[in-house]
Amino acid sequence: MSESDAWHAGIRYHTQDSVHIILLGPPGSGKGTQAIRIADRYGIPHISTGHILREAARSGTELGRRVGATIAAGSLVSDDLITDIVRARLHERDAASGALLDGYPRTIAQAVALDAMVPQDGVIVLLLRVHEEEIVRRMRRRRVCQSCGITQTVPDADAAEAGHCPRCGDPLVRREDDDPDIVRRRLRTYAALADPLIAFYKDRRCYAAVDGLQPPEQVTTALFSHIARIRGDGAPPPADD
Ligand code: AMP
Repeated sequence: MSESDAWHAGIRYHTQDSVHIILLGPPGSGKGTQAIRIADRYGIPHISTGHILREAARSGTELGRRVGATIAAGSLVSDDLITDIVRARLHERDAASGALLDGYPRTIAQAVALDAMVPQDGVIVLLLRVHEEEIVRRMRRRRVCQSCGITQTVPDADAAEAGHCPRCGDPLVRREDDDPDIVRRRLRTYAALADPLIAFYKDRRCYAAVDGLQPPEQVTTALFSHIARIRGDGAPPPADD
């Protein structure tokens, strides 16, 4: 069977050094910003499950109708649904050499499903640690580009006009679920699920945690250095992580 036939039959080929990087952390921990940098550096697609679901909700597809209210309320969509979405996305050609996963897995069931989807020797799990008060403070100033999904921090949390996306020029808006009450609900959901998820990964050699309170450039440097170490192509990072 040719590679192309195999793709159509749903069989994935990963290049020998394929890398699947899972970025964990609470909402507002800077995952989106760091995810874009890592994906660019390694030439892999940035797969944000939140972005996929928001796009679907906005475009009014069948999927969007099913998940729109769930997202707006800050609750989680079902494990089976989100896993089907991620599995299909990982089958796309641009993910042949890996992907950066942002927002997935969020539950043990999703983590178990992911283990069966990707080759284990190429998996890297990185946690961004940021405490709750800092997150609530950050989320008040967070705006998102509706088109390309990148996030920006605005100087004035209450400004009606948030400016335009530096990448595509479309308006930046506050995400409906970044409303402070919904943020608190999302954080409670995260807190309930994060500990078991971290426990699932933390004894693996491919796991590292980084202090997400550092300036973004330093967070990026720390993440890159852990990726290089885990892949076996770099010096160990400082011991405080
Ligand atoms: P995020 O942009 O990652 O904060 O995700 C926004 C919203 O999308 C979440 O509050 C959930 O409603 C939904 N969502 C994203 N990823 C997942 C996931 N892995 N499992 C369940 N729901 C998800």
